[in-house]
Amino acid sequence: MEKQEKILIIDDSPVQADRLKSILQDDYEITLANTAEVGLQYARNGSYDLVLLDVVMPEMDGFVLLKKLQEEVITQHTPVILITSLNDVENEERGLTLGAVDYITKPYHPPIVRARVNTHIKLCRYRQQVEQKAMIDPMTGVANRRGYDTCYYRKWQDAVRLKTPISLCMMDIDKFKVYNDTFGHPAGDRVIRAVAGVATDYLRRSTDFFARYGGEEFVAIIQGSDAETAFAQLKQLRKAVEGLHIPHNPEVSPWITISIGGVTVLPKLGDSYDTYLKIADTMLYDAKRFGRNRVVWSTEKMEQLREE
Ligand code: GH3
Ligand code: MG
Ligand code: MG
Repeated sequence: MEKQEKILIIDDSPVQADRLKSILQDDYEITLANTAEVGLQYARNGSYDLVLLDVVMPEMDGFVLLKKLQEEVITQHTPVILITSLNDVENEERGLTLGAVDYITKPYHPPIVRARVNTHIKLCRYRQQVEQKAMIDPMTGVANRRGYDTCYYRKWQDAVRLKTPISLCMMDIDKFKVYNDTFGHPAGDRVIRAVAGVATDYLRRSTDFFARYGGEEFVAIIQGSDAETAFAQLKQLRKAVEGLHIPHNPEVSPWITISIGGVTVLPKLGDSYDTYLKIADTMLYDAKRFGRNRVVWSTEKMEQLREE
């Protein structure tokens, strides 16, 4: 069954809210909020596909709430349709200027409400699909740089807030230019896919994140593990890539291998993500320098773990 889209109806009048609900409930999952405050709370936590918002409400009116929704990162892309008995053009202009996607005046004709809602839900679904696609690397099927960019900071903030360790990790295919020069670019692409596939297998937890950072470089974020655990996990991954036994140019290496640099940190408020990503990159550089096909890690105490 197709996922049912979620609609939030914010209206201080239970009669009005129920009426809207009865028009839409066959097609959508409906939540009702009878004050703007409650509506704001729901909108923040519920990932709704559409909000139907009454303009005239006591305490906080729909315009104020709409402005708040537009300002918050979590809700700013949720489309809002204003519903009101105000039928003067000033209010309509004000609502649309504030960013409402549509404006329905009471009394309304139910089929028209249904049709307009359907249209905005369709647009929203389409936009979400495009956004999702834009974050996937088509060649490997893993997250791309853009997917990484939209995700890493949230993970970092989670670690700060929850006081849990986080590991940042860079990996890079060894002597890959030689591989391309020897076996050709299409063969190189297959290697990149194979490496991404192994990494995905070894970073299976729902909190693990893996992305193609660019070219033949990848980035991983692991939440909750200490340095020893993350180091051990990445050693397994490195060995698994070697274990694919993809022949390399014998002058540089019997098989395709990767080098990995990582850092584990218990981040505090004010610590800079970029600083730690640079440390991971330095560890990768060390892994290359020490002979490639190895993992080099920086611990919470800034001590280095490395494979010999
Ligand atoms: P090192 O061990 O120091 O990492 O050496 P390297 O040759 O792997 O490093 P370098 O950065 O010099 O070369 C990376 C190569 O990766 C160069 C480029 O042609 C290749 N490459 C980058 N993106 C792709 C891609 O999408 N497909 C293929 N086939 N090759 C790529
Ligand atoms: Mg390389
Ligand atoms: Mg590289």
